[in-house]
Amino acid sequence: MTTPSVSDIKEVREITRMERIGAHSHIRGLGIDDSLEPRQVSQGMVGQKKARRAAGLILEMIKEGKIAGRAVLIAGQPGTGKTAIAMGMAQALGQDTPFTSIAGSEIFSLEMSKTEALTQAFRRSIGIRIKEETEIIEGEVVEIQIDRPASGTGAKVGKLTLKTTEMETVYDLGQKMIESLTQEKVQAGDIITIDKATGRITRLGRSFTRARDYDAMGPQTKFVQCPEGELQKRKEVVHTVTLHEIDVINSRTQGFLALFSGDTGEIKSEVRDQINAKVAEWREEGKAEIVPGVLFIDEVHMLDIECFSFLNRALESDMAPVFIMATNRGITRIRGTNYQSPHGIPIDLLDRLLIISTTPYEENEIRQILKIRCEEEDVEMSDEALTVLTKIGKETSLRYSIQLITTANLASKKRKGTEVSIDDIKRVYTLFLDEARSSEFLKEYEQNFLF
Ligand code: ATP
Repeated sequence: MTTPSVSDIKEVREITRMERIGAHSHIRGLGIDDSLEPRQVSQGMVGQKKARRAAGLILEMIKEGKIAGRAVLIAGQPGTGKTAIAMGMAQALGQDTPFTSIAGSEIFSLEMSKTEALTQAFRRSIGIRIKEETEIIEGEVVEIQIDRPASGTGAKVGKLTLKTTEMETVYDLGQKMIESLTQEKVQAGDIITIDKATGRITRLGRSFTRARDYDAMGPQTKFVQCPEGELQKRKEVVHTVTLHEIDVINSRTQGFLALFSGDTGEIKSEVRDQINAKVAEWREEGKAEIVPGVLFIDEVHMLDIECFSFLNRALESDMAPVFIMATNRGITRIRGTNYQSPHGIPIDLLDRLLIISTTPYEENEIRQILKIRCEEEDVEMSDEALTVLTKIGKETSLRYSIQLITTANLASKKRKGTEVSIDDIKRVYTLFLDEARSSEFLKEYEQNFLF
């Protein structure tokens, strides 16, 4: 089995991301400060402060490795940001942290067993950060930048884009950059850092050489001792794939194309065992590391007792992602049994949960969220139209009003308007029904439908 190549995987990941998180693409984190206090509006997040504060604390637990064997439940009414908060947690854990969001009912598909569907969801949520060494190719454009000047050197912070015209080396490029920005020469023994993903080079003087100074720069940074004259032709690139992607690539004859065709049928357990062994080997050789992601299961009360016992066991695994569930049910029957329990979740799993609750939004918060979504979708909307849309959001649902942004924008474009007006909103409001009006309509015409 070979390491999947970078370009193949990147494309695949982008497509899945677009599909799954389009509605939450404005969420960039939890929007909390260093003392874990949520800002009213930050990183795309609005309000819901108590839940965000709790989520922030859980993030701390995750970072300190104290979440093992536990899971999170977010309980709250529809459209109160349960998915958004789970997504924010994944974002806060790092850009390449995998985030998988499924609804409980998706587990019951005809194509595969429940446990297979859950296993796939788990493995989609575990990233493998793979390190590859590549040559810097002649003619490649390399952007290099001084992020932090070495103390006392008076070096400027700046950026320079260079094209490698001849077979230059990382060392040569670093030298050029530093000369042009600081009139300084790279000295033998200087430490130069190279961002493995972008090839960015940072020179830190020798006064900066304690390892912990670099830790803050994150895992993408590599340190290259650069003795004068020695040629460094290689750079290291890092990419993250999910365990599930490796499973699919290695179990389908069409390789990574299987990810496009949606051919995710059952995967044999021998394939998975083989992949687990390979990943363990890569880890040992320092070629790969595990990035636990976030698995979010919405409508968790839709799962049955067999699913819950699978989840209980899976939580014990040393490769488990952060597991977040959501529900809007109170006491209800556990599917597959005759027992009632809080949120329809069996007691043994309930015992392991950290429960967060979300509450309905105030009008000004709905307005803020809608405004952020307009910016995200590049939609210009007049203030009055936004006020009307906010009222609709309050009366119907947040999600319905968010959906009207796209359709109202289309209506505005059709009439060659420059911004979405009240009339555009009215038009799409009458064209597309919200849940309440739709069922009202059906009730009214029931007789006609049921002749
Ligand atoms: P359901 O129970 O129906 O699945 P939910 O509680 O998961 O709903 P979301 O899907 O997170 O609700 O919210 C609906 C929409 O509103 C999404 O586009 C989400 O990104 C956005 N949203 C919700 N809460 C916030 C928030 N606090 N800040 C910014 N955006 C939010």
